[in-house]
Amino acid sequence: MAFESLTDRLQGAMSKLRRKGKVSEADVKEMMREIRLALLEADVNFKVVKDFTKRVSDRAVGVEVLESLSPAQQIVKIVDEELTATLGTETVPLNKSPKIPTIIMMSGLQGAGKTTIVGKLAKHLMKTENARPLLIAGDVYRPAAIEQLKVLGQQIDAPVFDMGTDVSPVEIVRQGLAQAAENKNDYVFIDTAGRLHIDEALMDELKQIKELANPDETLLVVDGMTGQDAVTVAESFNEQLDISGVIVTKLDGDTRGGAALSIRAVTGKPIKFVGTGEKLTDLEVFHPDRMSSRILG
Ligand code: GDP
Repeated sequence: MAFESLTDRLQGAMSKLRRKGKVSEADVKEMMREIRLALLEADVNFKVVKDFTKRVSDRAVGVEVLESLSPAQQIVKIVDEELTATLGTETVPLNKSPKIPTIIMMSGLQGAGKTTIVGKLAKHLMKTENARPLLIAGDVYRPAAIEQLKVLGQQIDAPVFDMGTDVSPVEIVRQGLAQAAENKNDYVFIDTAGRLHIDEALMDELKQIKELANPDETLLVVDGMTGQDAVTVAESFNEQLDISGVIVTKLDGDTRGGAALSIRAVTGKPIKFVGTGEKLTDLEVFHPDRMSSRILG
């Protein structure tokens, strides 16, 4: 890691306290400064940092110094618990439709990892549930995206529905869903187009697809390496599209995962999976407590 871990920082800031009986307000203030800096370095949004440090300091003042734990350890524990709570506490599974198919629509900016996630999730469900998914190629603006989805489909042995690039995505989805009904697919993944930036045309198209497909999941895929931008993207997609869950990709780098914390806090929507590499097996179910440990370092 490029920076000192939050745990180390807190222990450093607290080392003077070892012989005290109680954690004072001044002690907590000093620690909160460390926590604030560390979270900002880990790319957590400043508003989220503010709320978070307030909650931790409310709990930390007056902490009795126990024989068994140093004050720093106790504060680290409080920080860990609050981080885990902010991240959602529990793992949230994918929504499932009571009757087939369960429809999963992807959204996000170009390059976030949507197409890759379709392949990863489909493979995951085929393995864990014996699923028979249909993948719909709805990104008509980037011919390479359709090709990419077809290659993924071949790799995992799942059918891909495409109509090339001359038909509107809404029509492709309509016909793709009809095909899924005919073939009795139990999952349908809708890959959609992304742009480099959020724009009205993109959102309008996504809204139309959502209205037509009435998906069980509207997942937002965000690039975990984009830090603060990821928060803006998540806020905007959630406002316009009312997403049901988030997937944070590219957490295989040395990013701390601060984006995950911010996204969850700002949207209130659960993070369901994380992408940890380019391979189709690089998918992990999201665990709030593990992400908290990662942020703590
Ligand atoms: P889309 O435009 O949103 O469909 O994004 P793609 O699925 O095409 O992914 C964009 C690039 O990011 C590709 O080169 C992927 O291999 C890469 N990518 C996707 N997910 C991950 C991940 O979790 N880790 C890493 N390192 N690369 C990823």
